[in-house]
Amino acid sequence: MKKNKFDISKEEMAIIVGENVDRLCAVEIRPRMAASGVFPALYDATRKKYAYPLTYLAASEIIKKTKEKDHVFILTGAGCPPKYPTGESDGPPGAVALARALYLGLKLNPIIITEERNFEPIYGIANEMGMNPLLPGQSFSSRVNSLLVLDFPCGKERAKDASFKLLQKYQPSAIIAVERIGANKKGVCHSMKGLEVDANNFAYLDSLVELAREKNIFTVSVGDNGNELGCGIIFDTVQRVQPWGKVCQCPCQSGIASSSEVDILIMATVSLRSVIMAFCDSKEIPSTVGEGMPISPSTQPVLTHTSSIFSSILSVCINSISSSR
Ligand SMILES: [Zn+2]
Repeated sequence: MKKNKFDISKEEMAIIVGENVDRLCAVEIRPRMAASGVFPALYDATRKKYAYPLTYLAASEIIKKTKEKDHVFILTGAGCPPKYPTGESDGPPGAVALARALYLGLKLNPIIITEERNFEPIYGIANEMGMNPLLPGQSFSSRVNSLLVLDFPCGKERAKDASFKLLQKYQPSAIIAVERIGANKKGVCHSMKGLEVDANNFAYLDSLVELAREKNIFTVSVGDNGNELGCGIIFDTVQRVQPWGKVCQCPCQSGIASSSEVDILIMATVSLRSVIMAFCDSKEIPSTVGEGMPISPSTQPVLTHTSSIFSSILSVCINSISSSR
């Protein structure tokens, strides 16, 4: 019997929504500094790796693999000195919005991991979104709308030990990277323009993701150029289509294509935009759209937010970043 198109299950609807969120995330609206016309190939290559829309898969798998009060790591922070002494605006707003959605929607305990230079913009964004970064000594149960922000040391040599200790202490159920650069096959991190990121000024979070995968912890990454964590899944495509994909502008001469892999990679034209849209589309996360950011245990939480709130968290982030430059 022919299936009634109006009689579809919640799961089918979630997949339809995911397909459309993927399409929104894949609209190539990019800053001028990014190469034009390459994104469709990056998205298509990623999509071919999976049977379902990328945003649907990430959201539904996180729901399956976590339970209330579990810790979830959110990795972010792409910019670094000398150009970005307090980070950049693509990353932190999405990381905090995701932390909020996971806290309110799934009752998870979100932990943002980044370099200390990104703390100020993250705290500012958290304040705008009604989230409360924990102070030293405080636990998740001691505050409402709590969020923990942790420093990860810069330098490759300290990364393994720091990763081991973090995983040991918090036992996260999932790790989600939001616009976080990953190293190429020579272990060198790059900007999208093919310039080397100084390893002494940058947390080598590749180690954390690698160790998590060895421990079968679920990993997701959101990237937009192919030099981010997780983009090793589409390594050949990044090398082929990105201007600095195969040969970079730095002495390593090995290209910006990240060699890091994750369980689910989401390619979006701008990472943070995708994160903000992607994680509110699930059938089980209650999602309502409305003005304001009501956070009250007696009402259904609002996980998505309006353009005015998005605009204000971007402003807070950019002002925070700009004030120190
Ligand atoms: Zn290089």
